[in-house]
Formats: sequence, C-alpha cells, structure tokens
Amino acid sequence: MVRIIRWKCSKCGRKWIHPVEKCIYDGEKIAKVVTNKVKVVGFTKIFIPNPLHPIVPYNVIMLEDELGNRMPKKTMKDYNIGDVYQDIPDSSDSAVAIVKLKYDFYEAVSEAIELTGGLKLGKSILIKPNMSIPGHSYLGMCTNPKVIDALLQYLIKDKGAKPESITIAEQNFFMPFEESISKSGLVEVAKKHKVKILDLSKTEFIKKKERDFEFEISKAVFDAGLVINVPVIKTDMVLGIDGAFENMIRFLSKKTFEKYSSDPQKAALALAVFPKVFPPFFTLGDASIGLQGNGPANYGEPGFFNLILAARNPVVHDTAVKEIFCLRKVPYVELAAQLGYGQSDASRIKFIGNELEALRRDIKQPIGSKLIGKAA
Ligand SMILES: [Zn+2]
Repeated sequence: MVRIIRWKCSKCGRKWIHPVEKCIYDGEKIAKVVTNKVKVVGFTKIFIPNPLHPIVPYNVIMLEDELGNRMPKKTMKDYNIGDVYQDIPDSSDSAVAIVKLKYDFYEAVSEAIELTGGLKLGKSILIKPNMSIPGHSYLGMCTNPKVIDALLQYLIKDKGAKPESITIAEQNFFMPFEESISKSGLVEVAKKHKVKILDLSKTEFIKKKERDFEFEISKAVFDAGLVINVPVIKTDMVLGIDGAFENMIRFLSKKTFEKYSSDPQKAALALAVFPKVFPPFFTLGDASIGLQGNGPANYGEPGFFNLILAARNPVVHDTAVKEIFCLRKVPYVELAAQLGYGQSDASRIKFIGNELEALRRDIKQPIGSKLIGKAA
C-alpha cells in the first residue's frame, strides 16, 4: 500500500517528485501518477544517530515500482534486494496507521485511512477539526485546512459521500465562533466542497453520566452516522497532549467545560471516560504542522512533524503520539486504558505504514516556564 507519487508531463514525459502546475520545458499539462507495487532494489544501514533519527542502526531501503520510479523508506527491519515491500491494512481497534506527508495531503490522508481498513460512511458525516485557537494553520495551533480538504476529497470523490450529508463542527468557549475560524482557511475549504460548518454551541445538548462524571454533550455527535475526529497534534502544559481526547472536549456544553476546567486534575480524569460517553469515532490525527514545547497555544512553537495518523481507538491514537514524540505518560490515556477502553501498551499496538522505532524522536516537552504566568 506504500505509494510512490510522480507528477509527469503529458508531452515530454519528464517527472517531478513534487507537484508542478505545468511543465517548465514545454508548458504542457501535468498528470499525477501513483503506484503501489514496489520492490526493494537497494539498502543502506545507518549506524550514526542524529536528532531526527536517534535510534540506530536503521535501514533506508530503496523501493522501485513497475515504472522504475524510486522512493527511499526508513525501516528498522532488514530487507534483501528483490523483496516485495508492502504495508498490510489493519482494521483492528489496536492499530494505528502513520503515513509520512510527501507534498500531497490527499495521498497521505487517504493512505492513512485505507491502512486502517477504510471508513463505513453513515447517512451523515460529522468532521471535528480543532479550531479552538484562531490562527493560520502554519502556526500549528489548529487543524490544517489542507487535511480537511484532503479528507473531503476522499469522502466525496472517492467514497461517493454527498456534500449535503457532511458537516464540519466545532465551537469556541472563549470568543465568537466566526472570529475563531476566520483565519484558519476552513471557511474556504467548506465552501469549495459545499459542506456545512456547524457551531456546536448552538446545538441541543443531552446529559450523560459515567462514574462520577456528568456531561452535557452536543446531540449532533449522537445523530451523526460517522464521526471523524481531526485533532491537530500538540503538546499541552496541562493535559500533556492535545490529540484524540482533547479535541472531543468541544462537543461538551460550555457549562460542562467550565465545571471541569476550574479543576484541571478532575478534568484529566473526566477525559478518560470519553470513549464510553461518546459514540465510536474515528481519529485522523493531523501532525502535518503541530505544536511542541509549551503548547497548546501561543507559548508553544510549531513542530514540522509531517505525519498523518489514523486510528479507530483514541487510546491507541494518543499513545502512538506520545510514543513517537517521546512525551511523558498522559494520565487520562493511561486511565482510559485501565478502564478497558483501549490499548496503551505500545508493544501491543500495531503500527501500520511506519514502525514506531523508525519514527521515534524527541520534540520539546511541555514543561512550562517561569516566564509564563499562571500556566507554568
Ligand atoms: Zn514537458
């Protein structure tokens, strides 16, 4: 399922590994060529570590498709020349697909989804990005609209979903909704694909109780046939990680949010029961540009992670994020695993598309700073 992508001139046949609008030699049209049957034609074993590749030794294998196009791939596993390389999709709850972004968001997003066995479209689809902080997507604080654009292209063009059945939903607890999404580019993407944007604060909320926790949750999430959670991956000084769990917070009512946010420790425990109180949801983790260091807002710094994750289980998703970026244990994820809601033991999680050890690296930890007022 690995994809080799080339942009090829329809006239002279010249090829590029990145998108080109028209041929720079003859001005002719460019077509995208994607192949996925590849063999190993060479390998290099690397023994010298560097910050992006700290675990050694690792291999860089050279893959070649039937057209002679080549692509290097990092792997811990040893291959021989002539071996077929393939990633086998896994639709189990303990699988996470991780795809490296190579210029083309659509290819990375659709490959990640397909590696988890694909999506069953319901009558309606609810997409939940993280638009909680107004900002341009290159700052890493909100879900990249290019990821939403790619997801919509996959759902509508590939899977035949009707635009009118798709809703992008979010809310903001601190400022007017329209203002919070205005810079992100999301409005333009929604317009392009003719899908609705829903302010969750204007929806009906229903009460749910689980253990000691009471929530008011937007009815919209229960009405949807398919919920796709699309968090941007960020470090968080309070929660450790903003990932699959944190992004679901904005399905709660403002009243519920305020009740828990006044007590961060209680809030962290409340997050753990999310897999029980919400209907099943699919998580597409946007780690194209995320946040590292003292996230999840202005004190963090953009992290150019270039990854797209996909998982059916939020515990598995957030554990994968924690493990890839060598972050500290996330209490609510651990607790959710103890409650039986998912696998938080990395050795039992199936990493599809890229091996964990081949992805692992340090990013800046969310340890706070004396220069940050209350948040530290
Ligand atoms: Zn040409």
